[in-house]
Amino acid sequence: MDIITSSLLSIVVPLYNEQDNAILLTQKIHESLAGYNYQIIYIDDFSTDNTKQVVKGMKDVKVHLIELKKNYGQSLALAAGIDYAEGEYIITMDGDLQNDPSDIPEMLAYAVEGEYDLITGIRQKRKDSLVKKIPSKIANFLVRRVTKLDIKDNGCALKVFTKDIAKDLNLYGEMHRFITLLAHLEGAQIKQVPVKHHARNAGVSKYGLERVFKVVADMMLLLFIRKYFQRPIHLFGILGFLMILLGVLINMYLLVVKLGLGEDIGTRPLLMFGMMFILAGIQLFTIGIVMELLIRTYYESQKKRPYRIKKISVGDTPQ
Ligand code: UDP
Ligand code: MG
Repeated sequence: MDIITSSLLSIVVPLYNEQDNAILLTQKIHESLAGYNYQIIYIDDFSTDNTKQVVKGMKDVKVHLIELKKNYGQSLALAAGIDYAEGEYIITMDGDLQNDPSDIPEMLAYAVEGEYDLITGIRQKRKDSLVKKIPSKIANFLVRRVTKLDIKDNGCALKVFTKDIAKDLNLYGEMHRFITLLAHLEGAQIKQVPVKHHARNAGVSKYGLERVFKVVADMMLLLFIRKYFQRPIHLFGILGFLMILLGVLINMYLLVVKLGLGEDIGTRPLLMFGMMFILAGIQLFTIGIVMELLIRTYYESQKKRPYRIKKISVGDTPQ
C-alpha cells in the first residue's frame, strides 16, 4: 500500500550529540521519501559535539535546523520541532538510525487514507539491551492493563501524525515515552504497524537505568490525567469527604465516651486519628476545588475546548 501524497510532510528529529549519524540519516530519509514533498526538521538539543556544524555543512535546502539554547531533553526538543513544523503530516523519529526511514511510506499511507490520526511503529526484533527491554515490557503491560488500549510498543519513536493531533500533544518533561497514550487521550484514532529496528548506528544512548523511576512517576501522573484531568473533584472531593466523615464519626464516638461514660479521652490515639482524618480530608477537598479552578483556567486561557469534534454535517453534507 503506497499512496504518494502531494501534502507537505515534516520529518521531526531531535539530535543530541549525533554528529556521526546526521549525514547517513539525512541520506536515508531522502532515499525513502523520493517523490514526496517534505521538509526535515532537526532540533539540536544543545549538543556538545559537532552535530549542528554537521547539519549546516549539508547545505541541504530541505533541512531546517532549530538550535535550542540548552539541553531540554528529547520531549521538549520534539515539541520545538512539532511547533515549527509546517507539514500536513508530521513524522517523528530518533536521530541514531534505530528507526528506519524506509518504513515511513507505508505508515504515511494509513494517515493519508484519512481514517487514522496517529500511526505508530511496533519495533520488530528490537535491538536493545535487556536492561532496556524489560522495563519497557513492564511499562507496556501496565499501560495496556489500565487503559484497555492495546498499545504494543509505547517506546517506538517512529510515528506519523496528522498535524492537528501532533500540535495538540502538549509534551512536557519526558512524556515522549507516552505519546501514543497522550494522543489517545486527545481522541486520536491509532494504527500500529510493525517497523524495522536497528542497533544505534554511532554514538551512545542518552539514557541509563534511572529512566525506570521516571517512567513509573510519569505513568502515575498519566493515569491520573487519563481518569480525572477534567474532573479532579471526583477524586479529591470524594476521598476528602470520606475522610472527614470518618474523622467526625471517630470524634463523635469519643464525645459519647467522654460525656456519656465520663472516661478521659485526652490520651487516646484514636483522638489523634479523628483529628487527622478531618484535617487531611479538608485538605484533599480543597485541593480538589483548586484543581477544578486550574482546569478551567487551562482550557479558557488557551480558548481550548474540553472536547474534540470529528466531523459536522448538515443534512448529509459534511461542513
Ligand atoms: N535526544 C535529545 N535530547 C536528549 C536526549 C536524547 O534530543 O537530551 C535524542 C537523541 O539524539 C536521539 C533520541 O533523542 O535522537 C533518542 O535518544 P537515544 O537514542 O539516546 O535513546 P534510546 O534509543 O537509547 O532510548
Ligand atoms: Mg536510540
